[in-house]
Amino acid sequence: MRTISIKERLLTGGRFLPKAVAWFLFFIFLVFLAGRYYTVIGQEIYPVLHMLIEFVIVAVAICAALMSWYDYKYKHELKMLLLSLTFCLVAPFEFAHALSYMGMPDFITSNTVDKASTLFIITKLILAVGLLAAVVYGEKIVVIRRSALIPALSFLLSIGVIYLIVTNLAVLPDMYDAASGSQTIPKVFLGYLVIAIEAIAMLWILTKKWAQSQDLYLGMALIIIIMSDLAFIYYLSPYDTYNLLGHIFQVFSFAFIFKAIIDDALGMLYETNRTLARQWEMLAEKNQQLLEADRLKDEFLANTNHELRTPLSAIIAFTEILLDECTGTLNEMQKDYLGEISDSGKELLGRINGFLDLSKIAAGKTVLYKEVLNVYELIGEVSSRIRPLFNQKGITLEIPRADISVKVWGDRDKTGQILTNLLSNALKFTAPGGQVTVGVEQDDSAGVYISVTDTGIGIEAVDQEKIFQSFQQVDGTTSRKYSGTGIGLALAKELVDLHGGHIGVSSEINKGSTFTFMLPTEETEEKGR
Ligand code: ADP
Repeated sequence: MRTISIKERLLTGGRFLPKAVAWFLFFIFLVFLAGRYYTVIGQEIYPVLHMLIEFVIVAVAICAALMSWYDYKYKHELKMLLLSLTFCLVAPFEFAHALSYMGMPDFITSNTVDKASTLFIITKLILAVGLLAAVVYGEKIVVIRRSALIPALSFLLSIGVIYLIVTNLAVLPDMYDAASGSQTIPKVFLGYLVIAIEAIAMLWILTKKWAQSQDLYLGMALIIIIMSDLAFIYYLSPYDTYNLLGHIFQVFSFAFIFKAIIDDALGMLYETNRTLARQWEMLAEKNQQLLEADRLKDEFLANTNHELRTPLSAIIAFTEILLDECTGTLNEMQKDYLGEISDSGKELLGRINGFLDLSKIAAGKTVLYKEVLNVYELIGEVSSRIRPLFNQKGITLEIPRADISVKVWGDRDKTGQILTNLLSNALKFTAPGGQVTVGVEQDDSAGVYISVTDTGIGIEAVDQEKIFQSFQQVDGTTSRKYSGTGIGLALAKELVDLHGGHIGVSSEINKGSTFTFMLPTEETEEKGR
């Protein structure tokens, strides 16, 4: 972690320094007031006033205990667990101290100043030690399972200890000398000890390497606690303005600690929020870059395919001229070779056209010329074109009996292309002797379902989604058995989508596959990209 200078630290944390100075001046002013208007408050008013202040202190202590425990639960900072533990002990002790005050109804045993002072100084010791431990262990991360038990048990423990103290007060050293009406030496000594511990904690904050605004508030709280403890050492009467000031300072110090804890918890929320916002911005930027790269790729593909098509068409045309023997007779071998060139050229042209179609769809440039199509007529046209290839491979192609009434609303060429792609795949992935069946089913509400069923190699369930994405093949390795570019189904899906229909597959490995696409029977809104 980066080392931060004290000055830098004081200047960070939300303009902390001016706030700290203002608060400090305010507290000095209170000290001045307590001295300037020094008075011993009436015994009938002070216990009520004291109880009210103590009530606020206890409430803040309970809130601090709960809040720091929640903070620990999510961040696992030992500091927060120690603070929670400290305030779980401090809250009952503080309350017991308030109930033991002179003028209050007896609390377990009869109330005395000594009893209230003893509970008071123990509270102070717990608070000072707890704060020092929390400050020293700083950001140490400790994961404790069932951590809620720690504050809960310490709360119960403190109640037991309070009972033991008030019932065995006689064995403890006196904190208040009723005869002289002043604090005893042990009480003053413990008072200074508390101040010393708190001073160490405060110095620790200022010198340690990590410090955030919440730590500065903790430091501020420690300064006020020290001021409060000085007031408690120097008061002349337990009912005077200095004693009152000590309590007021204590309220402020608890409030500052509470603020430090809240800042810590909220800081975590803000930080998470900021990180999320930053990541969101980065994602949006990356997304923009990806979209741009995708657009450039489509543009490049479209241009390249176009450039490839022109010379390829010339190769095919001249091969056909040679094959027609317009330029002279050919021997059988020459005819064979030219036939191969022509077939391969046409295959290549088919693939290039596929790429071109796909990039056109991606660029949103595909226009559908829709009309009412007779489904059986369409199947007849496509199957008659492709049937020779099925015969050649020894695969039976079955098409349904003509039924004039089945019609769809679609683009003749594009719909034919969807069916051709599915039949070509069925042919490719079915072994000789197999069977391919075209089926038609009319659904009154949605449209017409056209299916191509084969008895081929089948597709595993995990691959059934991805094969509709561009360039995805079940076997994408270079050593694969079946040739192809992985765009046939992607193209079919895009074209079906453009028609406002949908396409899907059901398949079982080594048994066969059925590809089904739906085309609407009526005009639907064309889907843009
Ligand atoms: P290509 O056939 O050029 O590889 P397609 O997009 O047409 O590309 O098909 C993608 C993949 O889906 C194929 O590589 C194949 O793995 C699988 N596939 C498509 N049709 C079938 C089918 N009828 N039987 C088994 N697998 C198929």
